[in-house]
Amino acid sequence: MGLSDATDTGLRRRIGVFGGTFDPIHSGHLEIARFALEAGALDLVLMVPAGKPWLRGEPPVASAQQRLRMTQIAVANEDQIQVSDVDVVREGTTYTVDMLSDLRTKYGSDAELVLVLGADSALQMNRWEQPNELRTGCKVLVIGRPGEIWPNTLPDSHPAHDAEYLEGPMLDVSATELRAKLAAGARLAAGDGIGDSVPTGVERYIRENGLYKLGGPGRETDMVQTASGADRLLGRAKELGALKFGDFTLTSGQKSTYYFDGRQLSLDPEGASIISQLFLDKIIEAECIAAGGPTVASVPIVGALMLKAWQEHADITGFFVRPEAKGHGMGRQIEGGVTRGMRVAVFDDTVSTGGSLLEAIDAVQAFGCDVALVMCVLDRHQGGSDEVKRRGLPFVSFWEATPEGDVRITER
Ligand code: ATP
Repeated sequence: MGLSDATDTGLRRRIGVFGGTFDPIHSGHLEIARFALEAGALDLVLMVPAGKPWLRGEPPVASAQQRLRMTQIAVANEDQIQVSDVDVVREGTTYTVDMLSDLRTKYGSDAELVLVLGADSALQMNRWEQPNELRTGCKVLVIGRPGEIWPNTLPDSHPAHDAEYLEGPMLDVSATELRAKLAAGARLAAGDGIGDSVPTGVERYIRENGLYKLGGPGRETDMVQTASGADRLLGRAKELGALKFGDFTLTSGQKSTYYFDGRQLSLDPEGASIISQLFLDKIIEAECIAAGGPTVASVPIVGALMLKAWQEHADITGFFVRPEAKGHGMGRQIEGGVTRGMRVAVFDDTVSTGGSLLEAIDAVQAFGCDVALVMCVLDRHQGGSDEVKRRGLPFVSFWEATPEGDVRITER
């Protein structure tokens, strides 16, 4: 039976399932998803980034979370294309048979799943795990790829023998080639053949996360290459003098072997950009829809974070918490778009004893929000983070003070 012959499907929703490593996602992937929607008469296409793909010689360059994020950014403006994280959240090696089983459970018998594949992948299906089981109740739509010849017939034993083949957009773009070009120093600007192959938001994400060894003559941040966000932030803090080592007496009178000025870092354009990217990724991972923290430290971060969220089509809102309710106007303690019942992240630039951070958490909880993440750049290990954890709240810091008085990376 042809794929578009839907006589046995009645009113079932037809969902295209398009898995891939998406390292990175490119215009070839997007055009296939759009083409499959139309040509395959699908109601929805789910892009499913692989957690740990098995048929590859090398592991992916970008992490599963980063590939998931790039895919989400790429389809943010598409009405009928969505992203599923089933393969990222499942433990162990990614197999299509498990992906389909998870999606069947999720979408139920009202949905008809159609596996969408490029011709190169479809030809390899006989090497996949449980090739026969994976086809149970699932049709296959194969889209042509430049350089791949789709045979007139395949042996009955091949899982793609009854697939429908459509030539499609035939875009000559591959993730391997893009990575090689980027590693060789090609720039992502439009017009050089790479910028046009990667959606704009994804291009920004690649650049800001130093993925695929971006290099070549260009902006300073491009040359920072593959260092993680937390490493780059540490480098920038030292460069600015926002993090210094020596003998210091803090305002509290305590002695310290290092000095960190979080404001100097969060009010620096590059510092703000890196902090907000690091925070945004964690906020999205924790599925929070609002984020903020105590005045004054969190205020510049909230601003940078909202700009970043807008650029990446992340639907979150910002807020900040005053030490006490204002004595005039609306008398608010919490400012911003946060409303009761929201799942929120609360952050500060530094956590020492945690005074203002814990007060902000109290205020947000008393307001009726669910605090699902607490975060900072530097954990000084002076009791604040222990108290947050004691309250059963997930805590993330990107750097921490060591007992020897050094500052080291804890989270990349
Ligand atoms: P790599 O070059 O690293 O193998 P890729 O560009 O093939 O990456 P994948 O994420 O491995 O990207 O591919 C996901 C799916 O998209 C596969 O089914 C693949 O066949 C298909 N695909 C990728 N690029 C194209 C393209 N230009 N034309 C047709 N199909 C494609």
